[in-house]
Amino acid sequence: MKIESIPIVKRLDGSYLSLTKVVVGEGRPKLFLGASIHGDELTPIASLWRLIEYLKVADVKGSLVMILGMNPEGIAFGKRFDPYFHVDINRVYPGDKEGILPRRIAFTIFQIAKDADIAVDIHTAGVCIPFILIDPIEGELKERVLEYSKSMGVTVLEEYEEKQYKAEHLSESLPPKLLDEGIPSFTLELPGGLRIDWKGVNVGYKALINLMIELGMIDTSPVTIDEYPVIKEDGFRRYDVRSSSAGILEPYVELGDYVDKFTPLGVVRNLVGKIEEWVRCEKSGYVVSMPSRSVVYPADRLFTMAVRD
Ligand SMILES: [Zn+2]
Repeated sequence: MKIESIPIVKRLDGSYLSLTKVVVGEGRPKLFLGASIHGDELTPIASLWRLIEYLKVADVKGSLVMILGMNPEGIAFGKRFDPYFHVDINRVYPGDKEGILPRRIAFTIFQIAKDADIAVDIHTAGVCIPFILIDPIEGELKERVLEYSKSMGVTVLEEYEEKQYKAEHLSESLPPKLLDEGIPSFTLELPGGLRIDWKGVNVGYKALINLMIELGMIDTSPVTIDEYPVIKEDGFRRYDVRSSSAGILEPYVELGDYVDKFTPLGVVRNLVGKIEEWVRCEKSGYVVSMPSRSVVYPADRLFTMAVRD
């Protein structure tokens, strides 16, 4: 195992802001794993710790290239964005060598990731079941991405419909920019956030083991994900249910529940407990995530659902 510190910029005290790259094995296939580009999403780092421990005693074919903490200052300050420029680094790919700090970080990550044969960008989505997100692609590359992602044993979802995908500038995140280069890539969302979800850590670790088996990098039996519900059916995409009022959310559903359209997912109550809103989804689907805060405001994302068009 090789640990390398990649300097990005010199700070005013003369120290370097650096990315930590860990490489296990050598040659092809080369699997890139990036953790925690959002500095308030810490579960992925611990999943990579477990994977690294496991690989110390495994016979690995090819190589793993990992960046543990792709947003080091965000992680240090507990912030999603980079704390100097308040930029979402996962919206500025492929980055810019001469740009401001977040663009330089994105540039460096992109150069490393695009040398891989497959890349997984690992995030967290708060109170959620673990799930994989597939960016809009077609053809043979999509088939490969689906094959790899399904091997991991967690829920696989396609991204938001086109209008919301564009509105959230998701095409400027790491996986779609790698897909543009012909490299299979997708996002893995684990439970947790600023507080690590340790069951989610296990899920991430096990899902990555399954991917390595699929890639022929290790020779062992696939492991079952049983820490959280898994949606096994195909053809679902992510879809947000938002509130129309302010108040306190009382959910009526659990993660992984299947809910028929217009069935209440919960209620929003005001301070004296009066119901302000029945929260419903206009499509049938599974509950993928719930808000980590109970107080909600109009247009807050309350539930992420897995729905079919
Ligand atoms: Zn994220």
